[in-house]
Amino acid sequence: MRFCLKSFTVVSLVFSFVFFSSCDNKQEELEEIGVEENVEVVGVEYYGEKIYVEKVDGNYVMEGDILIDLDQNAKSSGKMGVLWPNGIIYYNIASDVSNSKRQIIFEAMNHWKDNTVIKFQQRTSQNAYVNFVDKGGCKSFIGRRGRMQELNVGGCFNKELLIHELGHAVGLYHEHNKYDRDKYIRILWDNIDDNFLSEAQYKKNTTAPGRDFTIGVDFESVMIYRAGVTDHSIDITKPVMEKLDGTDWSYPPGTLSANDIRGVNLMYANSIPLASDISGNWAQYEINLLMSKGLVSGFPDGTFKPNDLLTRAQFATLIASIIKPEPIRDDINFPDVPDTDYWATDAISIAVRGGYISGFPDGTFRLDEKVSRVQIWVSLASGLRLGGGINSDLDFFSDREDIPDWAIDNGKVADAYKNKLISVYNPNNSITNKLRPNDNATRADALVTFHQALVFLKKVDDTANRYLALP
Ligand SMILES: [Zn+2]
Repeated sequence: MRFCLKSFTVVSLVFSFVFFSSCDNKQEELEEIGVEENVEVVGVEYYGEKIYVEKVDGNYVMEGDILIDLDQNAKSSGKMGVLWPNGIIYYNIASDVSNSKRQIIFEAMNHWKDNTVIKFQQRTSQNAYVNFVDKGGCKSFIGRRGRMQELNVGGCFNKELLIHELGHAVGLYHEHNKYDRDKYIRILWDNIDDNFLSEAQYKKNTTAPGRDFTIGVDFESVMIYRAGVTDHSIDITKPVMEKLDGTDWSYPPGTLSANDIRGVNLMYANSIPLASDISGNWAQYEINLLMSKGLVSGFPDGTFKPNDLLTRAQFATLIASIIKPEPIRDDINFPDVPDTDYWATDAISIAVRGGYISGFPDGTFRLDEKVSRVQIWVSLASGLRLGGGINSDLDFFSDREDIPDWAIDNGKVADAYKNKLISVYNPNNSITNKLRPNDNATRADALVTFHQALVFLKKVDDTANRYLALP
């Protein structure tokens, strides 16, 4: 939390950007920074994007108290990929940690244990564990690092700060740095000290992957900083953040909020991968959740093959098994779908009668043709009878022109976007503003959209993949 910066004596910071213009690309590059003692600012790769962080004692620190691990990041694994199996966090407390500090460490662990599925066990021989050390600041890694990970308690003055740091170790980022926080709060940049260490506390996460287990910004969360005047304010009258309506939020109580508890429990309920090839996959949560509910199954060899493409016949079977639509109209007889003895015939009939699939204008179904992303959006938007979309909202996407005319004319892509059915994950693990409507859909693509359909139907909790295109 914000207090941890007090352990550094920062005398002067000289921070300047050099702007390069080449063709239509504009780059920012950190040129120079002057600091006292051992605080150094460096650019690092974090989930595919260059960000600037403090380098302290050989560690990289983001947003003041989050230790980041470049090896871990290189694996492109989101929060779902760095959870503690069965919610058990192994720990060790270094011998130089004082008895009073030990006491609040145990109180903080008990708060987590008493309120969530998270448990703590003294490490015996485990390789991956949290090592509480009496180092400066109050800092933690995000989630399970996979080997020893220090949690600096030197600057953790009370139980509430440790509850927050344990939140990072459990796998949580800050609420006020969330990628969509601008829909809820405003950062008052003019009121914040003009130096890197203060400004870094309020940067928006643009790349950190993971999942929203609670929608919006939770103002009661133990993972949010206070809104008003802080030691990052330029003077003692200036608040640093406010809600969009200009109001403050009260100082967080420092204990887990109802949504913290609900979110962490949801996050850990699906933390053990049910297929051998989905750990760390961008759609791990959706695949796991739908498998755990028996709505989809993997392959006999224990895999799910999230990157495989889907045929239209396979897509129809997913509609039948996941949505289970009630019939609202008559069946259609497709000349290219066998009447009997074909594995997908019944499922196609269910999808057709449910209003999800109609076939092509020439009357065919095309069983073995690959289903495209836009076909999935239009199918589910039609079957769910979604509305409210506006075609001009799609102008946000750089490849909007690639959407087929028929899917613009019927408004279904806009309806799918408005109702949060569309994801923009792309294979190099970055978020783009490209819809790629005509790309063939992977099984992961399809399951994320099906999950969102179940959210719409209120059959699963409203949690959001980091790669959803949110209107
Ligand atoms: Zn923090």
